[in-house]
Amino acid sequence: MEISILGAGRCVTGSKFLLRTDKVAALLDCGLFQGPAEHRRRNWQPLPFAASRIGSVVLTHAHIDHSGFLPRLVRQGFAGRVFCTKPTKALLHVLLPDAAHINEEEARYANRKGYSKHAPALPLFRLADARAALRLLEPVPFQTWTEIGPGIRFRFHRQGHILGAAAVELETKVSGGQRKTVYFSGDVGRYGVPILREPEPYPGSDLLFLESTYGNRLHPGSDPREPLTDEIRAAIRRGGIILIPAFAVDRTQELLYMLSELMMDGELPNLPIYLDSPMGIETTALYSRATTEHDVEMRQLFSEEINPMLPPNLEVTPSSRDSRRLNALDGPAIIISASGMATGGRILHHLKLRLPEQQNTVLFVGYQAAGTKGRRLVEGEREIKIHGQWVPVHAQVRQISGMSAHADADELLVWLSRRDREPDRVCLVHGEYTVQQEFARRLTDELGWRVEIPDLGDTIRL
Ligand SMILES: [Zn+2]
Repeated sequence: MEISILGAGRCVTGSKFLLRTDKVAALLDCGLFQGPAEHRRRNWQPLPFAASRIGSVVLTHAHIDHSGFLPRLVRQGFAGRVFCTKPTKALLHVLLPDAAHINEEEARYANRKGYSKHAPALPLFRLADARAALRLLEPVPFQTWTEIGPGIRFRFHRQGHILGAAAVELETKVSGGQRKTVYFSGDVGRYGVPILREPEPYPGSDLLFLESTYGNRLHPGSDPREPLTDEIRAAIRRGGIILIPAFAVDRTQELLYMLSELMMDGELPNLPIYLDSPMGIETTALYSRATTEHDVEMRQLFSEEINPMLPPNLEVTPSSRDSRRLNALDGPAIIISASGMATGGRILHHLKLRLPEQQNTVLFVGYQAAGTKGRRLVEGEREIKIHGQWVPVHAQVRQISGMSAHADADELLVWLSRRDREPDRVCLVHGEYTVQQEFARRLTDELGWRVEIPDLGDTIRL
């Protein structure tokens, strides 16, 4: 078997691994490249293998950098089977149409402004492609072997991270009837975070593809509930609106959980909370319904008929009319809206309205990538352009760290620590190259592993 690195090679997006034997061609993950333009351009490059000849795709989870190329693959002629977990399928029904919408919007915008190199600018894929991709999804239970070709089968293992996220264990027959296993970590989740069950440990394999996003970093040791409480108490004293930009998947649910817990415990007063994100509202409903994925504490709360993701003081505002009604709202009150880095979505309307007033607070609860409005605000810019208009920043802009869906370096080692056997080969993927080099040294020093860091286009032979 050959495994070619078509994405997430010495970078953190575009996860895509082409598996080939003389009888089978399959993709493990089918992600979009995101971030800087030179990365996003890779989404337009032809694949080294005809999409129509790929028989199946196995998806680890619904994040767009692992799934968002699927509509493009369908557009290029792929018509095979797409395996994922049931919650991943449900999330993709929300995320892929949204990704198509953003693509179509960007192409329209480029045409209006005339800045595209193509004339006219085309979207990478359209809503019809996303819908066609959704029709190919086949949910597979965790821990159940599924054949993807003669002598090749896989099964999913829970990985925490986000709802439905999995690691993939692949087993293939090699010459002489022997079996070899390849383990793809996908994105490794964290321990001791609310809502979802913990990652299942790595059991050992012949070959391991290991993510390394936070391979040289540790999340702060303190519980994010403490800074969250402090920031919200200070914001309440100012009396204004507390605006929290948050990703619709996972971060929004974790935030709602923590806020209701703090309010139930009397650490925070029972403020009104508004969830103003159509996608966040849908994904919160999915998180609530997926009871098989809930951890012990969540199951306990549910048995007492408490849903901390949908507390009684929460109001959801799905329609744009409901959303506009929030413009007349006086504080103190919390508005949670997407996107998490203020790159688009309804949060921009709220920022435009609330940033000029000093009693308001904008509270970021996650990493802000370079080049985003979120980053500019966190770095203290006093004026920011929203929808073509300069907006003065008089509101308090604050940030708390420690909320992440990715295991840090120590947690990755915990995930690896319960193995029954050593891997023969280890390939680091899904990380910045300098981070991967540091993490590779740590794996060599602490576990004695020889570690490879394959680049885009490299092929590993089993
Ligand atoms: Zn992910």
